[in-house]
Order: sequence, then structure tokens, then C-alpha cells
Amino acid sequence: MQLRMILEMEIYSLLQNSLQGRDRFLPSTTPSKRAEVYYRRALADFIRTMVNRITTALSKKNLTDAVAISDDDYINTLIEVLASIAGERIEEKAKILATRFVDKIHYQNKTQFTRNFQNAFGVDLTSIIEQETLADTLALAIDRNVELITSIKNDFINDIGSNVFTNYKKGFRHGELINEIRERGNVSYSRAKLIARDQTAKINADFEEERNKKLGFDIYKWKGTGDARERDSHRVLNNMLCKYSDPTVYSDDEGKTWKKRSSIKAFVGKCGEDYQCRCLAIPYIKL
Ligand SMILES: [Zn+2]
Repeated sequence: MQLRMILEMEIYSLLQNSLQGRDRFLPSTTPSKRAEVYYRRALADFIRTMVNRITTALSKKNLTDAVAISDDDYINTLIEVLASIAGERIEEKAKILATRFVDKIHYQNKTQFTRNFQNAFGVDLTSIIEQETLADTLALAIDRNVELITSIKNDFINDIGSNVFTNYKKGFRHGELINEIRERGNVSYSRAKLIARDQTAKINADFEEERNKKLGFDIYKWKGTGDARERDSHRVLNNMLCKYSDPTVYSDDEGKTWKKRSSIKAFVGKCGEDYQCRCLAIPYIKL
């Protein structure tokens, strides 16, 4: 609180001169494409490694055993390798991956915010932004993504359990089994791609919120994507003013009055918070 007050006073004194007659909206920060691509690729590697371990184990079985291999042998090999993957602890690896991902989002958010502020108001916030640690948001985002990575692994194993074994019981050939495992890998990858995109937007939105709140900027303008995929509950908020401190209200008269979002069936939350939401928050800098 102490630090926040000092920051606010510093910014307000800096802004008093430059804000006169200037645009009071700041361009929004955008979720880092680089972070999303990094995460998507890292998750793809992670899934591919699991798929390869299983298919390699099953292929070896095929090559090394000269005598006819029974279905039971394949199933036993599959169970062994799945149990081995399931039993491995991946928290450390997942934490390194999640930390790199979240750091990339943080870096872009920080540099864009500073640059946008400089361009809009001619004020360099670099030293203030450097003091402003977003440690809570960082830690939460890393923890959440370690959980998501763990769930990708667990879902993949369970998915094989329910799909492959059911089909195998019906009489599966060796080649089909390998194809099925690759197919399960593709399903996991599709989910991982969605996770990478969703988390990039969400984490950026969380940084945006914490950064703005710490600087004393509570109000932002909701900027929708305006395309066909946008939900109606988000579309109705387009160009409306919103508050981080109260996501249940909006204003259509530049903040003079605040109305309940429920009255227009609008989403309750901030831009980027809803699943796969691509709406962006435009900070409203007001003295
Ligand atoms: Zn949206």
C-alpha cells in the first residue's frame, strides 16, 4: 500500500503536465505470440516424447521376439510403459517450462505497456515499472500451468486407457495399436494448442490487471474482436468502460454512471478471462 501510494503520487505528478488535452486511453497490450508459440512447441515435444516411448516399446516387442507375439504381450508391454510414464515426477520439468512461458508473457506485457505509455503521454515509466513486481500473478500463473502440464500427461495416459484398451479387446492389430496411440497423441496436442492460446491471453490479462491496479488505474475500455466467433455476452461490452474493482458493472457514458452488466446479459469478468477470449483491455488514464 505504501509503495502503491508513492507510485501513484509519482505518476500523477508526472502526468499532470502531459495529460492536458491528450488521449486518455492507452493502447492495450497484446498477448505474446512468441510465448504462445514457445509453449505450444514445448507441449508438443512433451507429448511426442510420451508417444515415442510407447510406440518404440511396442515396436521393439515386434522385432525382438522371434516367436509369435500374443495380444497379451502387447498389452503387458503397453501397461509397463504407461505405468513407467505415470510414475515419473514431472513437476520440476513442468515448472521450468511454465516459468519460461510466463516470463515471456511478462516481458512483452512490461515492454509494451512502458512503450505505449511513453508514446501516449511522453512519460517514461521504466524505473517505476521495474520497481513494480507482479510476483503474485507470476507465481499463480506458473502453478496453474504446472497443473495443466501434469493434466496433459494424466489425460493422455487415461485416454489411452479408455480408448486403446477398449478397442484392443475387440481385436486390435499391432499396427492399428500404434496408430491409435499416435492418434491419442494428436488429441492431446489439439488440447495443448488451445491451452497455449488460452493461457497466453489469460496471463497477459492478469498482468494487465495487476499492473494497472498497482499504478492506480482501475478503469479500462473493453475492446472486442468484432468477428463472428465473439460471444454475444462479450460483444455487448465492446467500447464500454469497465472497472477491475467491480466486474459486475459497465458504463456507456464515459464513467458518469455505472450499470449492472446483468441488465445487458454481459459477461462478468475482465477481457481475456473467459475461455479462449481475445478481447483486450484499453487502460483509461484519468487524473
Ligand atoms: Zn471476449
